[in-house]
Amino acid sequence: MTPGLPPGHWLASSGDDLTPRPPLDGATRADVVVVGAGYTGLWTAWYLLDRDPSLQVLVVEAETVGFGASGRNGAWLSPAIAVGATELARRTSPATAAATIRAMRDTVTEVADVCDRIGLDAQIRRGGVLRIARGAHEQPALAHGLDVLRDLGVDDGIEVLDAAELATRVRVADACGGVFDPHGAVVHPGRLVRGLARHLEERGVTIVEGTRVSDVRPGPPTVTVATDRGHVTADAAVLATEAWLPQLPRHARSVMPIYSLIVLTEPIDDERWAQIGWQGHECLASHRYTVDYLSRTVDGRVLFGGRGAPYHFGSAVAPAHDRHEPTHALLRQQLTDWFPALAGVRIAAQWGGPLAMPRDWMPAFRFDPATGIGAAYGYTGQGVATSNLAGRVLADLIVTGTTEFADLPMVGHTPRRWEPEPLRWLAARYLQGALARLDAKAARTGRPPTGRTLPERLIRH
Ligand SMILES: Cc1cc2nc3c(=O)[nH]c(=O)nc-3n(C[C@H](O)[C@H](O)[C@H](O)COP(=O)(O)OP(=O)(O)OC[C@H]3O[C@@H](n4cnc5c(N)ncnc54)[C@H](O)[C@@H]3O)c2cc1C
Repeated sequence: MTPGLPPGHWLASSGDDLTPRPPLDGATRADVVVVGAGYTGLWTAWYLLDRDPSLQVLVVEAETVGFGASGRNGAWLSPAIAVGATELARRTSPATAAATIRAMRDTVTEVADVCDRIGLDAQIRRGGVLRIARGAHEQPALAHGLDVLRDLGVDDGIEVLDAAELATRVRVADACGGVFDPHGAVVHPGRLVRGLARHLEERGVTIVEGTRVSDVRPGPPTVTVATDRGHVTADAAVLATEAWLPQLPRHARSVMPIYSLIVLTEPIDDERWAQIGWQGHECLASHRYTVDYLSRTVDGRVLFGGRGAPYHFGSAVAPAHDRHEPTHALLRQQLTDWFPALAGVRIAAQWGGPLAMPRDWMPAFRFDPATGIGAAYGYTGQGVATSNLAGRVLADLIVTGTTEFADLPMVGHTPRRWEPEPLRWLAARYLQGALARLDAKAARTGRPPTGRTLPERLIRH
């Protein structure tokens, strides 16, 4: 059977040959097996070879390189993890929170530097991140976020923009100001994931597609990776399957797969761009609980993404869930709410995909030398850059047993498990509804939610 391609624009426009790679051909051996060919798996393979070029690394992908979120995302090379600065400092310490924020900013630079060094044109534009207050009710949260960064001593380069200053960068309806963070970038997700795979193959890594892993059994002495095409024995294995992790034995409650959906316009004409501005390729977002994210492609399209599509009972992930017309309709509406100049512009593509949310929102990067099994997962929609840091940490831990990032809260972390069904389904549905109602009420009354509401306490990020 031909392995599946992800929905959407990125692989088709990646410039890569999408001819499927051969599947695994019966039983084999490798030094390290990586399960999943998204950014996490590929960056892990990348840094394993940096640390020890003699390693035989095999990447096993159920569908096609980039089939998961890595081939479907919103193009933000985000300098943040999903746990915000306040919560990060509360859970760890101000010093650790600051170190985590700095490590993430350096990670954006690392991705850009590797691409430069190897000549991978992933269309990275270092335009920063612009969080926009769309109405007075969103201003307090932006101001608070900035205060926290200041207190932690990591506000370098961050600028507060009033409505007039904002309009010199981008003209968004109802915007009354924003906060600019220079540390983020946009990327062409498809060019990055497919380019990385090609470069890995040139470095001697074997990537097999159309090969589904059904179990990873621990050592010692060796790890056994069972697939539908034969099994692999190895000294170490890395699980890099993000939203598909619950489908592997013993991981059913490790993360909650949540769908994020996207609409993408056709390239926009110069007249409309003149009305909008946005020449700097900033990543844009407001401060809604229900999450919106926008990016501008190098070929002049606008991408508008958001959460809100339903969670599916039993952490189900399936191609049928990649589209949800009520959510896509809302995104098309929000696109023209933000930019009235885009009314009538054709939508070229709409798609979606699952991201993985751990119970505490904290990503997990760990390797257990006793079993030979490692994993990195739980990015909650902030994995494009974070997966690079995960790859460096896993490679360090596998090859040397230690890492310079050992003090970061993601390293060695195991999030507590989600509740069993039907509790998980009930909680997810309640939260999705409650957060949407909070957004609607704030927009209607012009006032931010007061105090710590129940949904806020539940998401704690
Ligand atoms: C719509 C959407 C928008 C997003 N936007 C952004 C954004 O703008 N910025 C940002 O930072 N993050 C964003 N994210 C999140 C980000 O894309 C992910 O965190 C990141 O790509 C995760 O990479 P990964 O390699 O860990 O997982 P994935 O890219 O999901 O890769 C997992 C791979 O494992 C394979 N696999 C699964 N099960 C098996 C198995 N049993 N055997 C073999 N292979 C298997 C899958 O086919 C898949 O290719 C978004 C996510 C989505 C869905």
